Amino acid sequence: MQTQVAIIGAGPAGLLLAHMLHRRGIESVILERHSRAYIERRIRAGVMEHDVAALLERVGLGARMRREGLVHQGINLRFAGRTVRVDFAGLVGRSVMVYGQHEVVKDMVRARLEAGGTILFEAEAVRLEGLEGERPVVVFRHGGLEERLEAAVVAGCDGFHGIARRSIPAAHITTFERRYPYAWLGILAEARPASEELIYARHERGFALLSMRSPTLSRLYIQVPPTTDLADWPDERIWDELELRLAAPGFHLERGPVVQKDLTVMRSFVTEPMRYGRLLLAGDAAHIVPPTGAKGLNLAVADVTHLARALFAFFERGDERPFEAYSRLCLQRIWQVQHFSWWMTTMLHREEGALPFDHHRQLGELEAVTGSRAALTWLAEHYTGLPLDFSEIA
Ligand SMILES: Cc1cc2nc3c(=O)[nH]c(=O)nc-3n(C[C@H](O)[C@H](O)[C@H](O)COP(=O)(O)OP(=O)(O)OC[C@H]3O[C@@H](n4cnc5c(N)ncnc54)[C@H](O)[C@@H]3O)c2cc1C
Repeated sequence: MQTQVAIIGAGPAGLLLAHMLHRRGIESVILERHSRAYIERRIRAGVMEHDVAALLERVGLGARMRREGLVHQGINLRFAGRTVRVDFAGLVGRSVMVYGQHEVVKDMVRARLEAGGTILFEAEAVRLEGLEGERPVVVFRHGGLEERLEAAVVAGCDGFHGIARRSIPAAHITTFERRYPYAWLGILAEARPASEELIYARHERGFALLSMRSPTLSRLYIQVPPTTDLADWPDERIWDELELRLAAPGFHLERGPVVQKDLTVMRSFVTEPMRYGRLLLAGDAAHIVPPTGAKGLNLAVADVTHLARALFAFFERGDERPFEAYSRLCLQRIWQVQHFSWWMTTMLHREEGALPFDHHRQLGELEAVTGSRAALTWLAEHYTGLPLDFSEIA
């Protein structure tokens, strides 16, 4: 098989890239190791930055999001028995869109297939060849056979555990990593969200987050040790813990059937550079953030805007210079987002074995942030997202 861009991974990064290339007449093939049903059911992120939602609209992927998504003008910080609303609209005139990542993926898959694009499901990339040359090849397994996809460029959009990043010789990349001594136990429940906007709660027993995917689906998380066994957490125990950590005067948590339960480890990770020869990495393949800042999906979209522009220049004008600039452009945003995600995480979680000093300092930090319009404005700017560069995106 041959194509112009071989894309590994049908997550938000790979699907959006294929869609944007198609709109400029550039051909691609996506290889995805899971089935269509699997990726369309996989529950992950749910908060889209202001400009990310605008970008999806601009490229014709926003119709269902506009109808079914929830526009949020703020979030709540709950600590020391108080709740402080961060008013995004008032502080920075921006908002976020709450719309499940699996819904975004459904919209993108449908758009791609309706446009006649190729997504090979249950096709696992197993080896990359000739990345230093002009016709790299992705070797993949599909239907029990090993096949080859030759392209001018390979886009590694295969997430943190994919093969693209691992195919780069170690001498050519540097990685930066920080692991956190806690994880999130998350549930998706058929229950009306107990708050119209997200609640980030810092509690003596650990962090809790109330989020949602729709007016009838709640997404809730509690901080737990990374070694937690989900079997030790029957539904009622989770609800009881959520009630304790989210408690506030007049607040009532509605319970409902738990339809999914998962454990997310928390990690910050960056690869530099995000390119090796004709392989370019985007999204989780190149970086991971702890989910507290709701940034993983948004950062993947931001990478893709730069990658798409680099590929327009290459295929339309034969200009390879944007490949050189690609990493630098992405990393400017990535490190700012890494900082924000780390900051939200460490401000709100309780670290096992922390000193009483740390406990009081953390409360002092929350008091300082919520008491300062300047600090709240900074939080709102980053939560709703740094501006995206929309040039050449039509
Ligand atoms: C369990 C979990 C929960 C999360 N929760 C949140 C959250 O609450 N909020 C938030 O902001 N972010 C969250 N994230 C992060 C967010 O979902 C990711 O940042 C986002 O999915 C990145 O998109 P991507 O396209 O780069 O990668 P992915 O969505 O991971 O897509 C990569 C795709 O590549 C495929 N693939 C991998 N290897 C191969 C191969 N060898 N061959 C072919 N295909 C391959 C995978 O099956 C996958 O479909 C979560 C992530 C996980 C894993």
